[in-house]
Amino acid sequence: MTASVMPTYARADLVFERGEGPYLYTADGERYLDFGCGIAVTSLGHAHPHLVEALKGQADRLWHTSNLYRIEGQERLARRLVADSFADTVFFGNSGAEAIECALKTARRYHFANGEPERFRTITFTGAFHGRTLATIAAGGQAKHLEGFGPAADGFDQVPLHDSNALRAAITGETAAILIEPVLGEGGIYPVDPEFLKAIRAAADEFGLLVIYDEIQCGMGRTGKLFAYEWSGVAPDIMAVAKALGGGMPIGACLATEKAASGMVAGTHGSTFGGNPLATAVGNAVLDVMEEPGFMEGVQQRAKRLRKRIEQTIAKHPDVLEEVRGLGMMLGIKAVVPAGDLVAAMRDRHVLVVPAGDNVMRFLPPLVIDDSHIDEAIAALEDACVALKP
Ligand SMILES: *Cc1c(COP(=O)(O)O)cnc(C)c1O
Repeated sequence: MTASVMPTYARADLVFERGEGPYLYTADGERYLDFGCGIAVTSLGHAHPHLVEALKGQADRLWHTSNLYRIEGQERLARRLVADSFADTVFFGNSGAEAIECALKTARRYHFANGEPERFRTITFTGAFHGRTLATIAAGGQAKHLEGFGPAADGFDQVPLHDSNALRAAITGETAAILIEPVLGEGGIYPVDPEFLKAIRAAADEFGLLVIYDEIQCGMGRTGKLFAYEWSGVAPDIMAVAKALGGGMPIGACLATEKAASGMVAGTHGSTFGGNPLATAVGNAVLDVMEEPGFMEGVQQRAKRLRKRIEQTIAKHPDVLEEVRGLGMMLGIKAVVPAGDLVAAMRDRHVLVVPAGDNVMRFLPPLVIDDSHIDEAIAALEDACVALKP
């Protein structure tokens, strides 16, 4: 029998009825600690009172008008993202992949407007993930995502990470941009060396290319700064953000400098829902919380404690766990045993985490957890290690 929901996901057999802070509850009252945040989305926890209030307040007033008209909440969210970043201007969509699509279109259009329409190719890196649309699977270059969906969209050249020579060798007269996640997410929580980001910036400046950051997963406070690139001090020309920007409301954004966006004039791009009043009301509420003085410092301190506890656990169970890597509250634990078994063992102990490439288990907890939640997750991890000991 055909499933009424297209069976494209290998789902765990769990249904949640409500959430509160870092916890999710099933219909029969079973409680789970959510250290996955729906893949780095509900970064302020579930049912955050300020977000709920913003959503309910907006729901009573106005949901949608389309981008035929000005949208106050969208303009305000754009102004705030601009003030908080390298960018001068923002386009809103509804997802991460759409934010990347806008970034790629913005880069191509920049060169078109500069009289160099032959520059359309984008360099990407092995292990990358940029979404599941036709263009973004080509950008990610993963065989498992491309299989059966050919021919792959043209315009992407992939090179190994941390190889400046390969990067420079891949640049041709057709290259428009270089696209990279400052911390690889799906690829296995792998922070890119700031020196390599500098090398990318230098090559881009030398050859007149645009640098695009994919901060869909690592942005919005996940690493302990609003944007992960702040750790390196190397700014891009264009950046895609989504996931935690809406705290669970579907919203994505493509940020750009005035120069990089010079080709994006009226009529060049659009979205029916993008940046609608409902989504941007919640986006603004997320920023209200994240912009509070001391918020990011608090995230950094809690992340340090969590990481230390993970390191202690790894030291005790070297036959199950290999290493922890990442930045802030974006932590990947490379496993010796299959990471999928570890994720399942954590779920059996009522802690939700997310698998990633390179045999990694991801911890993406709410940014607002306290020590008791760290204790709870580590106790489950210890117990899972004992159970999985080979
Ligand atoms: C999740 C993710 C995407 C895709 O976002 P969607 O909202 O699923 O389209 C792209 N890039 C990175 C780094 C991501 O983590």
